[in-house]
Amino acid sequence: MPNNATIAFLGLGHMGGPMAVNLVKAGYDVVGFDVVPAALEAAKAHGVSTAASPDEAVAGAGVVLTMFPSGQHVLDAYRGTDGRPGLLAVAAPGTMFLDCSTINVDEAREASALAIDAGHRAVDAPVSGGVVGAEAGTLTFMVGGEPEDFEAVRPLLEVMGKRVVHCGGHGGGQAAKICNNLILGVSMIAVSEAFVLGEKLGLTHQALFDVASAASGQCWALTTNCPVPGPVPTSPANRDYQPGFAGALMAKDLKLAVNALQGSGVAARMGPLASEIYDTFAAEGGAGRDFSGIITDIREKSRTEAGGLQKDDGSQE
Ligand code: NAD
Repeated sequence: MPNNATIAFLGLGHMGGPMAVNLVKAGYDVVGFDVVPAALEAAKAHGVSTAASPDEAVAGAGVVLTMFPSGQHVLDAYRGTDGRPGLLAVAAPGTMFLDCSTINVDEAREASALAIDAGHRAVDAPVSGGVVGAEAGTLTFMVGGEPEDFEAVRPLLEVMGKRVVHCGGHGGGQAAKICNNLILGVSMIAVSEAFVLGEKLGLTHQALFDVASAASGQCWALTTNCPVPGPVPTSPANRDYQPGFAGALMAKDLKLAVNALQGSGVAARMGPLASEIYDTFAAEGGAGRDFSGIITDIREKSRTEAGGLQKDDGSQE
């Protein structure tokens, strides 16, 4: 893959749009495409060259970067649907297929195998860091693929992110992403339950935070994304749980984690339970709220005659 390879960037949504813009700003030759005209127009307005079709974007590209909602979108685009040839058939031999979507580990492995069977190269590189990280170019990339392919895409990823980690062979990036988010989803529920219990027992939010943040309960869900307002002024709880990391995305990622847990025969209990909890949260109005808003559900469901609850500001009801 030459350094000056043209990048076909497919999927210019919340994440893909700003990622493509950062590549253009760094001097890369990017041709974008999205099935939604408004996404295409927004990218164009920010300086990304656009194509009228995926085939046009991929023609002449050395890299095909996809940033799609799901694994089915990736597999359909690679293989083609309804008799239309897919990206793998249209791309020049030896093209690098770089998928940055968050998808099932099995789907990532299947997508890579399809690309390689078609004479191409393939890497999975899901991200964390959200829209803010995509805009600022500070994403973390978790990469699965052959070492030489990792080295080939590393310069591109370093434009869009501040941390790029090679996690192993094909599917390794997706594996790292869902393992991390499994920890995150479960730990946010634990932190939220602890705060609601503290409220019932008469602890102020600040007192619990001061103890747990410097003790063995310390974790990112507590010290960076604290689910109650006050102790960490930058956490989404201080802005009525505007994301941040939306409940719908946590629900999605935990489903992927549960698929992998079940497929791998792990005797897991917390992951599937957390997945159920976030599914309910997302279905009952939390889809667009930060996932730390789960605490409001827990608090609401904990209201009983016995035991007062603190309000969000820490005062007693
Ligand atoms: P999004 O829905 O905003 O963007 C996806 C885009 O892909 C859409 O614009 C859609 O029209 C386009 N698309 C779908 N099929 C296509 C096709 N065949 N050809 C061209 N375009 C196509 O989603 P997003 O928030 O940008 O997320 C993208 C991926 O990144 C997801 O897999 C998500 O789980 C992951 N992710 C998102 C975040 C976040 O904070 N939004 C954080 C980390 C990871």
